[in-house]
Amino acid sequence: MRTAIVTLANVAEPVVRQLKALLPEARVYGRVGRVDWCDEHFKLASVLLPSLYREGVTIVAVCSSGIAVRCLGPVLADKHLEPPVLSVASDGSSVVPLIGGHRGANALARQLADHLGAHAAITTAADVTLGVALDEPLPGYRLATPEHYPNAVSRLLAGETLCDGSDAPPVVGEGVNTLPQGGDALSIRVTASNLDSEPGCLHYAPQCHVLGVGCERGCDPDELVELVTSSLKSADISPASIAAVVSLDLKSDEPAVHELAARLGVPARFFDAPTLARERARLANPSDVVESEVGVPGVAEGAALAAVGADGHLAMEKCKSARATCAVAARAEGVFDAVSFGQPRGSLHLIGTGPGQADWRLPAVDRVLAECTDLVAYGYYVDLLGAAAANKTVHSFSLGEEELRSRRALELAAEGKTVGLVCSGDPGVYAMGALVFELVERGGVDAWRRVEIVTTPGITALQAASARIGAAIGHDFCAISLSDLLTPWVVIEKRLEAAAMGDFVVAFYNPVSKKRDWQLPKAREILLSGRPASTPVVLARQLGRAEESVTTTTLGELDSTQVDMFTVVLVGSSQSRAIPRGDGGEWVYTPRGYNRKAGVEL
Ligand code: SAH
Repeated sequence: MRTAIVTLANVAEPVVRQLKALLPEARVYGRVGRVDWCDEHFKLASVLLPSLYREGVTIVAVCSSGIAVRCLGPVLADKHLEPPVLSVASDGSSVVPLIGGHRGANALARQLADHLGAHAAITTAADVTLGVALDEPLPGYRLATPEHYPNAVSRLLAGETLCDGSDAPPVVGEGVNTLPQGGDALSIRVTASNLDSEPGCLHYAPQCHVLGVGCERGCDPDELVELVTSSLKSADISPASIAAVVSLDLKSDEPAVHELAARLGVPARFFDAPTLARERARLANPSDVVESEVGVPGVAEGAALAAVGADGHLAMEKCKSARATCAVAARAEGVFDAVSFGQPRGSLHLIGTGPGQADWRLPAVDRVLAECTDLVAYGYYVDLLGAAAANKTVHSFSLGEEELRSRRALELAAEGKTVGLVCSGDPGVYAMGALVFELVERGGVDAWRRVEIVTTPGITALQAASARIGAAIGHDFCAISLSDLLTPWVVIEKRLEAAAMGDFVVAFYNPVSKKRDWQLPKAREILLSGRPASTPVVLARQLGRAEESVTTTTLGELDSTQVDMFTVVLVGSSQSRAIPRGDGGEWVYTPRGYNRKAGVEL
């Protein structure tokens, strides 16, 4: 989960630095003009805090509780969101969990207070009065009846007592043993079996089971979910006792398996065929048919047994529906307080950083980056990401090693990692996106096809250039790369002729490089065949970066020695206009035809 530390004044810097030391992944937002040390500046807390909240970011606001509450007031009504929100006094003396007490805010407040030597102002009634958070069991346990929690807590708070709380192992921390006992209305039960649940019973399930599944390609998720639900019921196994869903790696891109894991709220993990084959002797229902199809005699039982290890055992033999199977294995003893077996489905995020500056990057990019374990990129792009790329394993490549970079990203994702392949601008525009899909198509590596690939777009250079200069792409436009390294020049020339004939606004990517200097003059000549020498041209260099420059000229005067590989060149259509602006420069825009509608000549 992403965390933001928000600070309004320089006096809080020592506290902010201490918080950042404890939460190195957190992004520090500082009020512009008031705070020097931060990752990103903001103008208005009343804009920043609601937007972080809506994105589900954990907020640690180093300011008064009053400021934080007022800023968040308008968005608090939506109870579905509720990420943890805390305020911290600017001298570090108090930490107040404001929102989401039982979604991590109380726990985080205690952690921060310990670190700062401060007081955690916990006000949640159950925690304070009962001394225990009954809805936050220890890792390895789950509350199987969360619907009974509010009723049980209010009854405890009203003075009712537990009947057999003292018998329960400390699934919610030692505090449970201090709850008042002696009554007969409320109970805590800890069992991996199903309970006929009554409102007065809090049922905690130890996560000691692993659910193995198999299914045919394209199996309806509902079929698998129904099979699992009815099988667990017959075997008297509580769904809350399932720690993970496991299967064969060939199924790692099977929607039904992921849907099932999501509905159970547990991770999905996968094993390769040799690992499952080693379970042959322990299978209760080996199948020759399955073996001939996928190379192992049992997927559901084999995967469940592989997960629980040599001293675990089958707790539910294979059950079948028309297209799916499931089985459950149990640990010899104890619970899974973390899932360390098998491999997750890897994912590859094609990430566009936009041209450079951080606030031209989609918020979704930061969210995705927070999830990535590994980044694959040309080093400069990682530098552009700044703090957002901190604490990742970075695999740097030089410019020109595009295929190596894309292969490496796919390999890492196929190993189960969450990989970000970072591109400037948009990852699909003259960047690595297309190459990744090309490698998937021609690569001959099956595991690459099973990787989850997600593209997060970015502002491409032509949009940034048009925005800086006005509205140069206000009417039909096209992009042409002048690099003939991969595309034969005859093809490029044909497109130039077509663009000239179609009177498109044209954006030239890769216009010039040290070795390629004649293409831009040639392109200019071709475009001049279809539009006047006075056509406005925009040279936009290093957009969004410290060295940015945006200048205008005309097609007649376009001098390719003023252009380099960090420049995108926008050539107007015959309709594009350059108009003076107050500061002595020019706006360039391409009219859409409203003037004709209004009967006005431009
Ligand atoms: N994926 C990138 C394009 C990569 S191709 C995007 O969507 O923007 C590289 C070319 O893009 C450069 O030669 C230049 O023409 C253009 N370009 C990329 N970033 C730029 C920037 N910040 N300023 C100006 N041009 C840029």
